[in-house]
Amino acid sequence: MADRVEGGSPAEIVIVGGGIMGCALAYDLTARGAEVLLLERRELAREASWASAGIISPPSPKYGAKAELALRSYARYRGLVQEIEDASGIATGWTSRGIVNVATSENEDALRETLRWQQAHGLNAAWLDAAALHEHEPALRADGTFSGGLFNADAASLLLGEFARGLARAACRRGATVREQCAVFDIETSGGRATGVRTVDGTIAAGTVVIAAGAWSRQFSDDLGSRIPTRPVRGQMLAVANAPLPINGVIQGSGGYLVPRADGTVAVGATEEHDAGFVAEVTPAGISWLVDLIDRLTPSLKDGRLVATWAGLRPASDDDELILGKVPQLDNVWVCSGHFRSGALLAPGTSEVLAESIMSGNVDTSLAPFDPGRFA
Ligand SMILES: Cc1cc2nc3c(=O)[nH]c(=O)nc-3n(C[C@H](O)[C@H](O)[C@H](O)COP(=O)(O)OP(=O)(O)OC[C@H]3O[C@@H](n4cnc5c(N)ncnc54)[C@H](O)[C@@H]3O)c2cc1C
Repeated sequence: MADRVEGGSPAEIVIVGGGIMGCALAYDLTARGAEVLLLERRELAREASWASAGIISPPSPKYGAKAELALRSYARYRGLVQEIEDASGIATGWTSRGIVNVATSENEDALRETLRWQQAHGLNAAWLDAAALHEHEPALRADGTFSGGLFNADAASLLLGEFARGLARAACRRGATVREQCAVFDIETSGGRATGVRTVDGTIAAGTVVIAAGAWSRQFSDDLGSRIPTRPVRGQMLAVANAPLPINGVIQGSGGYLVPRADGTVAVGATEEHDAGFVAEVTPAGISWLVDLIDRLTPSLKDGRLVATWAGLRPASDDDELILGKVPQLDNVWVCSGHFRSGALLAPGTSEVLAESIMSGNVDTSLAPFDPGRFA
């Protein structure tokens, strides 16, 4: 065994990966009295969580088995953001000006069904007719394409990377240790348990290991004797400043979205590319798709100033469902991955339920559909 490095103890929960999931777990585990060591191979939250549009959209029927986690997250968000900003001093860019899903002849029935579902679940949802829609968002294409829209006044957005850093800092204030530039190579196991993790700095003993390595989580499948079939799905985005007409809240439609930020820019996203591998790069084809999206939604925005382009790798799974819970063959290894396009929304609920499960040693029944054992 390589030298044990400072910061590891057999009692400790070692989290592998410092994206939003790892950081939220560090926060929620320390809240329950756990000793936590968070290991991140780069800087905190520089992968999917940094690239994220950070839309905290209201839950809807499309979440399927995830609806309960989505509702739990949505209800927790505003208070948690305030708590983290106060505890960490990090501004998250929280902007709560609602979201409108624009309706066309093709999707209006589905949106009205979503409206009924949301109202039945106590969410703040209303229908805007075409006139009200254009009064709310004057930059929207006004040629009759949009017949109205579903409006959720409580929806918000934030800078997910900053929120993750805030969670990690708040966790450190409660005693967690965070190590950046500390890649984990292997999980060491013996007698049906993980004993530690082998890192760039040597082996660190661990009482419990949580894999929260986003799209990269699959790299630990062989060590764990269990498939963790995560895969990267690239998303490209751009940002525009000096919008000629205001974008008041998040606008969703035509397969994409516009997100007005606290700094006055508008983020536009996002492509969904399943064959780009682990290449988080912007391409001319991606930018062209985003420009077409702007044209379909708010043509005037094309005359703003292009200030940034970026890409990130969403963690999807082979069956497009979350991977949350205990690894079948090992008593003390947990996985938290597969959040694909909803990790910003789902983080607070996911980490709360998983932290409770890890501390009690019993997987919460609400996590049953996401059991990592289904891939065995
Ligand atoms: C363009 C884009 C837009 C999005 N928009 C939204 C949105 O509006 N709303 C929403 O809800 N969701 C959105 N998402 C999805 C959401 O951002 C992701 O689901 C979420 O960020 C995933 O978080 P994560 O912590 O699982 O993964 P990541 O943020 O990728 O974090 C995983 C971390 O693990 C680290 N790591 C990997 N391997 C190792 C190792 N061997 N050792 C140590 N560390 C390791 C990585 O460096 C990384 O920091 C978007 C995603 C993208 C890319």
